[in-house]
Amino acid sequence: MRNPGSKERLRQFLLSNIGQVVTSIQLRDAAGTGVSEWARRVRELREDEGWPILTNNDSASLKPGQYLLSGPPPARSAVAFARSISTKLRAEVLDRNGFTCQMCGLTPGDIDPTTGRKVRLHLGHVKDKSLGGKDELSNLRALCSTCNQGAKNATGEKPGTIWLLSQIRRAGQDEQRAVFDWLRTKCDP
Ligand SMILES: [Zn+2]
Repeated sequence: MRNPGSKERLRQFLLSNIGQVVTSIQLRDAAGTGVSEWARRVRELREDEGWPILTNNDSASLKPGQYLLSGPPPARSAVAFARSISTKLRAEVLDRNGFTCQMCGLTPGDIDPTTGRKVRLHLGHVKDKSLGGKDELSNLRALCSTCNQGAKNATGEKPGTIWLLSQIRRAGQDEQRAVFDWLRTKCDP
């Protein structure tokens, strides 16, 4: 039987331990549930609600079975927004944006130099909802977690051709080759 209170108890426990390493045993006791349910709830907090819960997969300083809520979780309003957008619309936005953060240009699989973690993409509004922006294709864009939280000093303006070429000319041979390899994946065979 599903225990409806277990997730809320996990939330409270993690919130009272922000920045502190906790163990799977503590989490299981806090949830007061069976062997696997607490793990599923932690995964839901991470994946559905965007809680920055680190494991030994994210940080070399953590051992298996250790967890760390590294900072305050996102506001629930942000979570509600993420849920209000259909899977189809989300896929359309990500596809149109080439699965690339529209502010800093990182893609999933890159390591974000700001956080040292793998990039995850979210949807952000071009025109904020408080200013009348709508949940529609033309007003949504892909952003990485860091840019979505406004934590990077990138401008919203896209770099122009001349600036881009100048940067490529300045780069080393390996970097230039990486650019051309990437371009090849964008071109039709
Ligand atoms: Zn970004």
